Amino acid sequence: MIVQKYGGTSVGTAARIRRVSRRIAATVRRGEQVVVVVSAMGHTTDRMIALAQSVNPEPPARELDMLVANGETITAPLVAMCLEGMGVAAISLSGLQAGVRTSAQHSRARIQDINPGRILEALREGKVPVVAGFQGVTERLEITTLGRGGSDTTAVALAAALKADSCEIYTDVDGIFTADPKVVRNARKLTYIRYDEMLELAAVGARVMHPRAVEIGELYGVPIHVRSSFHDGVGTMIVAQVPMEERQRVRGIAQETNVAKITVLGVADRPGVAAAIFEPLGKAGISVDVIVQNIGRSGHTDLTFSVAESDLKAAVKLVKAAIKDVGARSVSSAGGIAKLSIVGTGMLGTPGIAGRMFRALADAGINIEMISTSEIRITCLVARDQVEKGVRILHKTFELEKS
Ligand code: ASP
Ligand code: MG
Repeated sequence: MIVQKYGGTSVGTAARIRRVSRRIAATVRRGEQVVVVVSAMGHTTDRMIALAQSVNPEPPARELDMLVANGETITAPLVAMCLEGMGVAAISLSGLQAGVRTSAQHSRARIQDINPGRILEALREGKVPVVAGFQGVTERLEITTLGRGGSDTTAVALAAALKADSCEIYTDVDGIFTADPKVVRNARKLTYIRYDEMLELAAVGARVMHPRAVEIGELYGVPIHVRSSFHDGVGTMIVAQVPMEERQRVRGIAQETNVAKITVLGVADRPGVAAAIFEPLGKAGISVDVIVQNIGRSGHTDLTFSVAESDLKAAVKLVKAAIKDVGARSVSSAGGIAKLSIVGTGMLGTPGIAGRMFRALADAGINIEMISTSEIRITCLVARDQVEKGVRILHKTFELEKS
């Protein structure tokens, strides 16, 4: 059994829906059991959000979910009727009908469990279930959505619940690349990537897959095949273990340009100060990323951290309010920076990777403003206008163009 998920671009027009349906039909005719998950057509979701904001700049989250869930509700029956027209029995199912039960946090609900009774019934009747992705319902039958890009999560969660053999994510790119092909001309498509590497890459700017889908894939051992819906070529398999020959110290490079930093100078160096500054940000749903705290001197210290530039204004306001209580000399902020990251499980136990990265950036005259690491990732904050150059240099330094 295969779960096939088709993203917004792949179902963006009637012609594309017909093409996708032909692919589904071909899979069915090969004798496979197929469950389909679809996204909203093209930019439908963006348009609905803009429409909502034009009648209320801060639409209530429940109502916004009631609205945007409709994008997927439109695609599913269109694909099902297209399949029927091709002589393939099919039935569209909403999130509710597909048994997707979620938590109650609107616009970022989490799937709690899936009761795939209707899907299994359809399969028994020889029909292709076409499920609206992105949406679910709470216990009280409130409509929820899973966060932008959430259809991926629906697909992988369904594959886990149905114990499908694999989950295919059809998209408008050929797979996962060693770097953004728009930035690095000789970026290479990876045949395999590990779940943990994909998660790290997604967290620092690679936008091909919804990170929570990768998390679920890892947790339930669902192999995920990211591939193009525009041709038959294979894409990238996201798996637990990459075959030995595929190992490389650094697997990929990612950049993220929506970054700004906030510096708090002269805060008291005592317990509770960092908590007082960061708790309000957390409550406001603002993620803080790279955090650097200097060694305290004469009872004071400096704190610098990064946030998304789109959150900068709100974040500065909260930090200024917080330091009224804890005391600090000044708060300053700056946008225009970017994150540049290298990721790879092979970095574990390979000394010298950080040194090579910093040397390559230094030789290119790129200044590093902040650094953060995980076991399998090194991230540098650099000036935004230098990040693409940095990506190209690191791609070369770590010989990623070679297979
Ligand atoms: N339609 C939703 C979005 O645009 C979900 C998805 O495409 O996966 O974010
Ligand atoms: Mg999408």
